[in-house]
Amino acid sequence: MPAGFPDFRLGTVLATSFTATLTERRGDAVERIPTPQRLADWLAVSGLAVDSCTAEQLELARELRESIHAAATAAALRDPLPQAAVEVINARSAQGRAAAVLTPDGKRRWQLSSATAVEDALGVIAADAISIISGERDGKLALCASPTCQAAFFDTSQSRTRRWCEMNTCGNRHKKARFNANHRKNRAAE
Ligand SMILES: [Zn+2]
Repeated sequence: MPAGFPDFRLGTVLATSFTATLTERRGDAVERIPTPQRLADWLAVSGLAVDSCTAEQLELARELRESIHAAATAAALRDPLPQAAVEVINARSAQGRAAAVLTPDGKRRWQLSSATAVEDALGVIAADAISIISGERDGKLALCASPTCQAAFFDTSQSRTRRWCEMNTCGNRHKKARFNANHRKNRAAE
């Protein structure tokens, strides 16, 4: 990983891993794809490797990311979906030309056309977002309980009671904050 760039927060759901390339949206936001190359890096680790990426394509990707974030947040709150966001998601989905390919060992991988690889990759991400926002996939959209995060995540736990977008970051920070608060209270009581 190149030094100086924030690392990626990769989950198991493509669309919400993508929205997690901008974290702490309600606090000190961290942009994890600050350059076209970092978007290319993110796509590579997400099974959507592209040869190159332009500044315009990065803009397109960020527009899709914020649209997915807005639509997924509305879906989690059971609000009407913002129409502008729906239009962007649909446009990226329609523009993508990726082909699903079955590998000899029975896995699915995406084949992107060389001329429009980034657009194809964004199409795959948009389609993934549609599958979780439409409710066709097993799971529930929810918002992270961290006040500085509030990221929309896809809860596939059996009880559907997950509170954090990620246990390693938001969940642990909450646990630590509670521990410190208790510690202070006990010390004050002494
Ligand atoms: Zn979170």
